[in-house]
Amino acid sequence: MMLLLFIITMALSALASLKVRSAYNRYSQVPASSGLTGAQVAQRILDLNNIRDVSIHATPGHLTDHYDPAHRRLVLSEENFYGTSVAALGVAAHEAGHALQHQQLYAPLQWRMAAVGITGIASQIVMWVPIVGMFGGLLDYKLAITIMAVAMGVLMLFQLVTLPVEFDATARAKKILAGTGAIAPGSEFQAMSKVLDAAALTYVAAFVSSLAYFLYYVLRMSVASRED
Ligand SMILES: [Zn+2]
Repeated sequence: MMLLLFIITMALSALASLKVRSAYNRYSQVPASSGLTGAQVAQRILDLNNIRDVSIHATPGHLTDHYDPAHRRLVLSEENFYGTSVAALGVAAHEAGHALQHQQLYAPLQWRMAAVGITGIASQIVMWVPIVGMFGGLLDYKLAITIMAVAMGVLMLFQLVTLPVEFDATARAKKILAGTGAIAPGSEFQAMSKVLDAAALTYVAAFVSSLAYFLYYVLRMSVASRED
C-alpha cells in the first residue's frame, strides 16, 4: 500500500510539474507587446504600492523564482528577470503579489511564515524516523507511527496554508497586469494565465500528496491500536 501511495503521489506531482514546464516553455517564447522585462514589471508593482524595502534580484536556474519574506527579497530567475515574454511578466507579477501580501499582513502568508520552522523539523522527522525504525528495537512501532502521523499532519497543514497564499498571489498578478497594461487583454492575458494556473496546480498536487500520506499514517495508527 505504501508503494502504491508513493507511485500515485509521485505521478501526480510529475504530471503537475510537466504541465507547468510545458506551459512555461511555450509561453516564454511569446513576447508581451509592452516590451517590459520581468524585473521592470516587478519594480513597477512595488513602486505603485509604495514598497521601498523589497529588493529585486536575478538568480540562475530554471523556474527558481520566489519571494523571500525573511530578507524581503524578490528573486527572479535570469530568464524572467531579463525576459519580456508573457510568461516572464506573469511570474514576476506573481512574486510581486507575495510582496504585496507581506506588506498588507495577509493572514495566510503570516501563518505560513510562522510555520516554516516547525515544518523544517517535521520534514527531518519524516526522513529519519523510517530509517531509525528499520533497525528493529530502536524505536517502538506504535510510537514511530504516531510520530510519523503528527509530522505528516504538520506538513499537510503547511501545504494547506500555501494554497491561499499562492492562489491569492496569482489573482493579484492577473489583476495588476491587466490594470497596468503590462499584458495586453485577449491572447496575451490568456497565455499568461495559463502559465500561472499551471503553476498553481503544482501546489494542489503537493497538498493532495501530503494529505494522502497523513491519512495513511493515521490509518496505520488506528490499525496498530486495534491490534492491542
Ligand atoms: Zn508563489
